[in-house]
Amino acid sequence: MARPVVSETASAAGRLRAQLGGLVFLPGDAGYDRACVPWNLAVEQRPAAVAVPSSAADVVRVVRAASDAGLKVVPQSTGHSAAPLVGRMDAAVLVRMSGFGGVWIDPERRVARVVGATAWHQVAEAASVHGLAALHGSGPDIAVAGYTLGGGLSWYARMFGLACNHLVAAEVVLADGSLHRVHASHEPELFWALRGGGGNFGVVTALEFDLIPLEEVYAGVLLWDDAAMTGEVCRAWAAWTRGLPEEATTSLRLLGRPRSSQAQTIFPGRQVVVIDGAVLGDREKAAALLTPLRELNPTVDTFTPTPAADLTRLHFDPELPSPGVSSHVLLDDFDAAAVDVFVAMAGAESETSLLSAEIRHLGGALGRPAPGGGALDQVHGRYSASFLASGATEKLRTQGQADTTRAAGALLPWSSGHRFLNFTDQEVDPAAAFGAATLARLRAVRDRLDPTRLFIANHDLG
Ligand SMILES: Cc1cc2nc3c(=O)[nH]c(=O)nc-3n(C[C@H](O)[C@H](O)[C@H](O)COP(=O)(O)OP(=O)(O)OC[C@H]3O[C@@H](n4cnc5c(N)ncnc54)[C@H](O)[C@@H]3O)c2cc1C
Repeated sequence: MARPVVSETASAAGRLRAQLGGLVFLPGDAGYDRACVPWNLAVEQRPAAVAVPSSAADVVRVVRAASDAGLKVVPQSTGHSAAPLVGRMDAAVLVRMSGFGGVWIDPERRVARVVGATAWHQVAEAASVHGLAALHGSGPDIAVAGYTLGGGLSWYARMFGLACNHLVAAEVVLADGSLHRVHASHEPELFWALRGGGGNFGVVTALEFDLIPLEEVYAGVLLWDDAAMTGEVCRAWAAWTRGLPEEATTSLRLLGRPRSSQAQTIFPGRQVVVIDGAVLGDREKAAALLTPLRELNPTVDTFTPTPAADLTRLHFDPELPSPGVSSHVLLDDFDAAAVDVFVAMAGAESETSLLSAEIRHLGGALGRPAPGGGALDQVHGRYSASFLASGATEKLRTQGQADTTRAAGALLPWSSGHRFLNFTDQEVDPAAAFGAATLARLRAVRDRLDPTRLFIANHDLG
């Protein structure tokens, strides 16, 4: 039964080649393998064809040709979140947006415009020239596109909410091959859907979003190079986050493994406890806020007034493609009992392959509907827990999947029951991400604009 499907796909790919020539790579072409490699090297992508457009006009051509040839379209910028796509692109054209990029800053309006697969560090650097900052995430090479379409949780999130709700316009190629500029007063329903609804509606070629006036922020890292401190630091951070002003957005992590020599960990041979993040506002007040944590005598303390653009590298996230498997759960609470479970699952004494166990503090503006916001106008959960392991080999991948799943599963008693899709590497029920009413509205937008379901997003709307 499998044979005819393969040959049908191959002939569809042949029709695509006839229309697009060298704009597309087919299996066997020099360049195909390289063009398919996602940022997450644990994921293998073998689409029917891969295109690397260098302009919005190229994207239009690719979408029209794919539709004519009877192939699906998978938009992708970097492949940081390629894992949920495994096994779903056999009859699709993977559209890698990494063939073009660029940032333009309008300092008067405090708006940035990016095209293609522009990375966040490029935006942060360009904005900083004008004393402005962007709502970027923890990794410098994450693309603005996938991050923003999925919500976007930044170091300023408790103060300013999700990055998607700071979008002012988007340009997108729809299933009929038309290119649209959408904003609050033109195609408002699609503009609403793009703000959190992911890559389900078309290929986004440009985004414009608000920047914040911020040159410097009190930010840094507190690190304890002493596994004996793990429990105490975790308990202290959890207590500290209660009633914390919205100006502070921080995370708590256990990084590295005591007996691991894996190259992927930046702390081989030991585990460290790290609290990092940013505190907006007056620097004396910010410093005072950190006192209870500093009283625990961290081995390293880099919290200080910091140029805003430097925050893209605050979290030591890998800047080169890496193989990872992860699991995630949103929590209603991170109380003393949850801390104990977290440490039991991921602490230095635990027999686990986890390289990183992370709790991010949510709440604040994230916990309220953003005024005039998009499909994802808040995050339901006061904390986010994420567990990461290496996916460098099949054996590590299997072990990592088991360990990350077990660790997230152990925190389920504290789960909010919701999902934040940017941190979700598995296919999940979209209702858990959006709620039933928002999901129905998103599906209505998708069904109107893409009735044949041309586009395949990493997180499908079902
Ligand atoms: C190391 C690391 C750190 C992270 N830190 C954060 C963080 O601090 N905050 C946070 O919110 N998230 C974070 N993430 C999650 C990250 O935001 C998601 O992985 C996001 O999807 C990455 O976007 P991307 O475009 O780079 O990835 P991709 O995998 O390329 O894109 C993910 C999905 O977005 C859609 N998409 C991407 N580009 C387009 C486009 N041009 N048109 C239409 N659809 C498109 C597609 O559906 C695609 O499958 C992190 C991930 C990693 C691996």
